[in-house]
Amino acid sequence: MRELTSKISYLHGLVEGLDLETTTKEGRILTNIIDILDDMAESIKGLQDAQIELENYVETIDEDLYELEDDFYEEDDDEDEELEEDLDEEEEYVEVECPKCHDLVYFDSELLDDDDIVEISCPNCDEIVFKTEDNNNDED
Ligand SMILES: [Zn+2]
Repeated sequence: MRELTSKISYLHGLVEGLDLETTTKEGRILTNIIDILDDMAESIKGLQDAQIELENYVETIDEDLYELEDDFYEEDDDEDEELEEDLDEEEEYVEVECPKCHDLVYFDSELLDDDDIVEISCPNCDEIVFKTEDNNNDED
């Protein structure tokens, strides 16, 4: 681009040096052509500047997008972990040893949240291994 501008400047100097501008019709035509070249060079320079600006802008958007993607997938990972934690909580089991056969009996801790009286019996010998208190009686 700089090369093009200096070539046009050289032409300008040449025309002025030869004094073509005022003496001949051809000189006037040449001067006009060189002026048009000048305008074209200016236009091209403007386009190049706009192009560079656009490239920088796209680059900025690309970087922002990369950060967004990074955040998005990070958040996604966190959600997965939270989900796993929730599942862990839900699948919490209470371990009780059967007093009769000493088998270990597992039951869901959520059963204890129930208002009704819960009786857990040993699957091996049917002995009651766990029984919730009847809280309603205390209120009466
Ligand atoms: Zn048992």
